[in-house]
This record gives sequence, C-alpha cells and structure tokens, in this order.
Amino acid sequence: VQEALRQSQKMEAVGHLTGGIAHDFNNMLAVVMGSLELLQRRLGSEDSRVARYIEAALDGARRAANLTQRLLAFSRQQPLRPEVLNVNRLVSGMSDLLRHSIGADIRLETVLAGGLWATQADPNQLENVILNLAVNARDAMPEGGRLTIETQNAHLDNRYVSKEVGVPPGHYVMIAITDTGSGMPADVIAKAFDPFFTTKAVGKGTGLGLSQVYGFIKQSGGHIKIYSEVGEGTTIKVYLPRDTESSGEVIEDEAAVDEEAS
Ligand code: ADP
Repeated sequence: VQEALRQSQKMEAVGHLTGGIAHDFNNMLAVVMGSLELLQRRLGSEDSRVARYIEAALDGARRAANLTQRLLAFSRQQPLRPEVLNVNRLVSGMSDLLRHSIGADIRLETVLAGGLWATQADPNQLENVILNLAVNARDAMPEGGRLTIETQNAHLDNRYVSKEVGVPPGHYVMIAITDTGSGMPADVIAKAFDPFFTTKAVGKGTGLGLSQVYGFIKQSGGHIKIYSEVGEGTTIKVYLPRDTESSGEVIEDEAAVDEEAS
C-alpha cells in the first residue's frame, strides 16, 4: 500500500510541475516555430544550405512541441467517463488499429474468454492502455514475434492480495498482454511505472506510457502487474473490477481464439 501511495504522490507532483512548465514552454515554442516558418518562406528558396538549417531547426522544434503536447496530456488528469464495458468487444474492435500499430512482422493473437464478466471503465482510456502496452510490446520485438491479448475472469483471493498492493480481494476482469520480446530485467521492472523512466533512445521514448497506464488502472479501482523474463518476453496483466451492478450477468460471447498473420 505504501508503494502505491508513493507512486501516486510521485505522479501528482510530476503532473503539477510538468503541467505548468509544458504550458509556458508550448507558448514559447509557438513563437520559435512561427518565426522559423516565416524565415523559411523568405530565405528558404535562395540558398539550399540555409533551407537545410531552417528545416533542421523546425524539425527539432516540432519534436519538442510533440513532447510538450504529451506532457500536457499527462498532467491534465482528464475526468474519467466510466461505462459498463464488454472488454472482449473493446479488444475485438481494436484489431485493425493494433495490427496497424505493431506492423507486419508481429503476429497478433487474441484469446477472448467466453462468458467474460462486465467491468466498468472509461472505454477511450482503456483503449489507450491497450494501445500503449501493444506499442511497448512492439518496441521490445524489433525482429518480429508474437503479441497475445487474452481476457479472463479472475478471482483475486486474500493470499494474492495480501502479497500485492492496493486492491481488495474479489472478482476482476483480467486482460493479459504478452510479447515474445527482449524482456525486462528486475531493475527495469522496479522503475517501469515511474514517470519519465525510459530505456529507449532520446526522441523514441518519453517514459510516460506506463505511468499513465498505472494511473488510469488505479483510478479505475484496478491492479497491474508485470511478469517478465529477459530474453523470453513480457506479460503485463491488468485487472479491472467486475461491474457490481450487472454482476448477475455474464457477457455471452463464444470463446474465441483468433490467430492470424497480420
Ligand atoms: P517508453 O515506452 O516511452 O520508454 P514506458 O513508461 O511505456 O515508456 O516504458 C518504460 C520502460 O519500460 C521502457 O523504456 C522499457 O524499458 C520498459 N518496457 C515497457 N514495456 C516493455 C515490454 N513489453 N518489454 C520490454 N520492456 C518494456
């Protein structure tokens, strides 16, 4: 519980700080980019070397603007709009987007539980979570591999919960995202949810993905856990509480295994 508290305090502090800085920075960048674009129009066609310098400066400024946009989105704790959700339907609906995002060298496999319980969560944010985890999985498999998305009804008992943090024992809808990629050593797992922690090259990773995912899952009353083996791959399990209002019902989907080359 202390760990969860520490994590959320860290995120809150970083959120306030970055929100203020990103906002001011964004305004300054707008001036820089506007001036560069004017310069490009005036001088760009006269000298190709000048054109290249201006283009390089603009490129850097655009990347900085992209980062500040992400920082703003991170600090702006959007209010959640939870709905009763069929996670199987949500995952199925994302398959084109997922295939497109992971590319042709990675096979997408979905294993959707029949009779999956309903949960309550913000559908747009949950799509973001799944997309974030899929993109991380892709980045861990530069040579290709397999991405599996699995859903399951899960019962977290006292034994599990007492070892873990922050959620009461009970019924959860589990989403597991498994890759056959590089895996994560223990020190990376320990820091993975920290804002700005990244092992990716400058310009490639912001280190905000998993901390956003963590924040959303906690806000939704859920739980997230990383299982990883270096050289074997990673499984990230997300648990969202079973919806109590519709708890008598199950979602009557056929158990579905969908395996396709993308
Ligand atoms: P970013 O993707 O921008 O680096 P994240 O917060 O999403 O930020 O991830 C933090 C770090 O956790 C990554 O830089 C990477 O080292 C590690 N990581 C996350 N997901 C995976 C994965 N599926 N396989 C291996 N490493 C991962």
